[in-house]
Formats: sequence, C-alpha cells, structure tokens
Amino acid sequence: MVTEGTLFDQIIDKTIPADIVYEDDFVLGFKDINPQAPIHVLFIPKIRIATHNDINDSNIDYVTKIHHAINLYAKEIGEAENGYRLVMNCNGNGQQTVYHIHMHFLAGRMMNWPPG
Ligand code: 5GP
Repeated sequence: MVTEGTLFDQIIDKTIPADIVYEDDFVLGFKDINPQAPIHVLFIPKIRIATHNDINDSNIDYVTKIHHAINLYAKEIGEAENGYRLVMNCNGNGQQTVYHIHMHFLAGRMMNWPPG
C-alpha cells in the first residue's frame, strides 16, 4: 500500500501551479499536463484516497461529488451532449502513476474502443 502524499496534494494546496478549471469545497479539476485529447481534465478529491481500492464508506461521498462536478463541467463547456470518456486507472495493470485518485475527463474528439 502506498502511504506517502503525492504532487496532487501540492496542487490542492496551490503550492505548485495547475490550470484549474473547476473547484468546490470537495473537488478540484485541472488540466492534465500531458493531454490525451483536446480536453483532458483531472478531477480529484480534496482528500487523499490513494487508489480506487481505497474508496470506502467514509470517503465515497467524494466520488459522488467528483461525478457531479464532471456533470456540471461538461455542461458548462458544452461537451455534455457530444459525450466524453471518464477513466480511473488503478495500480500496476491499470498504469496508475499518481497515487491520489483522479478521474480523467477526456473530450473533444471521438474516443477509441477498446482502449489500448
Ligand atoms: P494516471 O497515470 O495516474 O492515471 O494519471 C496521472 C496523470 O497525471 C497523467 O495523465 C499525467 O499526465 C498527469 N500529471 C502528472 N503530473 C502532473 C502535474 O504536475 N500537473 C498536471 N496538471 N498533471 C500531471
């Protein structure tokens, strides 16, 4: 289990810069530094949940709030009807690289399926 914090804590604290496009009391959304689509935003909880496996009764409200934030953001930028893809990678086989859960919001182009 990974226990140390990640750079996303510093993005939440605003001690390192990020292009923030959404913020409320529970959720932060910021542009991915290495975008894989014309619109690629990471939505994260403002508490550290290391992986999808660490979602539990005490923190699951943050996951709900992430989905709601994405819903609002997609509508705000006019991509809700066009559609988008949500991805959360988990651990090694999922190729998770930052151990603070984040939902990738990918939009602005037709997605491929199945993903590689
Ligand atoms: P993962 O591979 O864990 O699902 O996704 C981590 C994501 O974080 C990657 O898409 C990567 O480009 C992004 N990322 C890594 N470091 C930074 C950073 O310092 N700033 C921003 N905005 N994104 C980052």
